[in-house]
Amino acid sequence: MGNGSLDGKVIAVTGGCSGIGLAIVTKLISMKAKVAVADIGPLPTELASAPNLIYTTVDVTSREQIKAWIAELVEKFGRLDGMCANAGITPWEGGEGTTSEALYDKIFAVCTLGVWNCGTEAYFQFERQGGGGVLVNTASAAGVSGFPGMPVYCGAKHAVVGFTRSWATTWGGKGIRVNAVAPGFIETPAQKSLFKDHTALEPFPAAVPLGRIGQPGEIADTVIFLLGDTSSFMTGQVLSVNGGHGV
Ligand code: NAD
Repeated sequence: MGNGSLDGKVIAVTGGCSGIGLAIVTKLISMKAKVAVADIGPLPTELASAPNLIYTTVDVTSREQIKAWIAELVEKFGRLDGMCANAGITPWEGGEGTTSEALYDKIFAVCTLGVWNCGTEAYFQFERQGGGGVLVNTASAAGVSGFPGMPVYCGAKHAVVGFTRSWATTWGGKGIRVNAVAPGFIETPAQKSLFKDHTALEPFPAAVPLGRIGQPGEIADTVIFLLGDTSSFMTGQVLSVNGGHGV
């Protein structure tokens, strides 16, 4: 898969301090992109001396914080070429399909409103620059099919797929491409804690045709493809990267 020359491109990544987001950031740095990382958690020490990287503490559920972050990265790097709306949470919902209202609000705030905030504010910046730009949203296998016991996470990620398709059709004429990646089981801190605490989930990785769970870098490779010119005629698409699970 080609990388479409991200050398010098300014890419914003939310949730870039752990798991899939950290893998995206690491690959972008190695490709000489200029990277703005937003997260509620601290920047990992391995990224502390990375060139052309700025880190900002941002809660994606706050529109004001996203707006200020984009202003900051444009001040630093001069423009915005791509946005990866990746931050998300995967809390256990109890398994009964009767998730509490408090947890519902929390999941939708991060997984859905967070992506909405990033996409809309990135769009406003792309417009200020005269059009063009790329959005890549992290959806989930749970955003394209059902996943037992986690109805709110499924709903929140289906909404991300809906935003992706609608924005693609709305903004295509302005040269803005919008795609999503739908990871299956990927070995990250979030996934490990979900499986460690909840034995009901343990059979699922065994159902993956490739016989293993995925690595964060395997999602990052797809995100890099969607960010770059190699995917220049792709928009409104949801790329499943899941080892064949559920096909
Ligand atoms: P992770 O917990 O390892 O990383 C998520 C990062 O997002 C963390 O650094 C966290 O601090 C940050 N974050 C959480 N809430 C935030 C907020 N309000 N504002 C800013 N940052 C916030 O998780 P991961 O597994 O790497 O997940 C990344 C994305 O991939 C999520 O959207 C998740 O839903 C999705 N996903 C993961 C898997 C998987 O198996 N790991 C599968 C499908 C989809």
